[in-house]
Amino acid sequence: MTWHSAEPFQNAVLSWFDLHGRKDLPWQKNISPYRVWVSEIMLQQTQVSTVIPYFDRFMDSFPTVEDLAMAPEDKVLQHWTGLGYYARARNLHNAANQIWQNYQGAFPESVEGLTELPGIGQSTAGAIASISMGLRAPILDGNVKRVLARYHRIQGWPGQSVTLKQLWDAAEHYTPQERVADYTQAMMDLGATVCTRSKPKCQSCPLNDKCQGLELGDALKYPNPKPKKKIPTKSTHMLLIENHDGELLLEKRPPSGIWGGLWSFLESENLPTVDEFADSYQFELEAQTTWEPIKHTFSHYHLMITPIHWRVKAKSSKVMESDREIWYNPQSPAEFGLATPVKKLIKQFQKASGSPAP
Ligand code: SF4
Repeated sequence: MTWHSAEPFQNAVLSWFDLHGRKDLPWQKNISPYRVWVSEIMLQQTQVSTVIPYFDRFMDSFPTVEDLAMAPEDKVLQHWTGLGYYARARNLHNAANQIWQNYQGAFPESVEGLTELPGIGQSTAGAIASISMGLRAPILDGNVKRVLARYHRIQGWPGQSVTLKQLWDAAEHYTPQERVADYTQAMMDLGATVCTRSKPKCQSCPLNDKCQGLELGDALKYPNPKPKKKIPTKSTHMLLIENHDGELLLEKRPPSGIWGGLWSFLESENLPTVDEFADSYQFELEAQTTWEPIKHTFSHYHLMITPIHWRVKAKSSKVMESDREIWYNPQSPAEFGLATPVKKLIKQFQKASGSPAP
């Protein structure tokens, strides 16, 4: 693959940034490795407009890497509820602990050092290094991939190593020595606001004089999509077990796997009976209603969830293990992370029981 001369490309991108780039996003104020890092992790798979309120709340609660390292995991996950991909939050928390304990609270000042931390890949490390430290480091997030793939009509799906290598080579070639922070932000902005997924605004793009995708009229084909694979559907039952005080039984999920470390309802793959649960939970339960199933989609499968509402008939002798099981009062705000469908079902439960949302 032959690249164009880097300097005119950089000049065009930087001049465009001076006029049109975004300069007042919350993480562009008081720039620090910590703020850039948190924003980059939140922006993976999530749009800027969704991220902004999450970022602001996160910074209010954990203004420094030390605050994040010292916070209980439940509190960190609670701030992530609704953003999805919870491994990102757990990695953020683990990495904060490592920075605090192994690096005396200061971020490593190289891409190699940054990528040793959990959840920080090459592109995120490049963004932290270039934006907050001024180091010349290329990035290749989804936006930049799209711009470069269209600009050079780079064939193949970026998940394939040959395609990915070409994209990284292009990113490396065009990254300037000077104004690297502005250039990084400019490339992300260009992908997010001009070279958009379905309606690129080529007329106002600073790269339109040499863009091969535009020239040949097939820019929308790039980057080539992932080869389609039908994802399977699994099913489960979630048990909304309500006690005499209108509280719901929640259990903490194991630290790894889906919704790791979040709080959820008890689950059963097969249709459970009251008697089975009476044995293991020493509850006397009475069946109430089975609700309409709800669908939750992960990247690799759909999950059909059938909610079942049961009430505790008589007081139980069971001792609750408070670090794993709790009775949650749905009237009070949760101070821990809840899996998204659980949050949805709690709302539905409140509606059905006529109580206001917390
Ligand atoms: S000219 Fe169009 S397709 Fe090419 S990089 Fe710009 S916006 Fe994307």
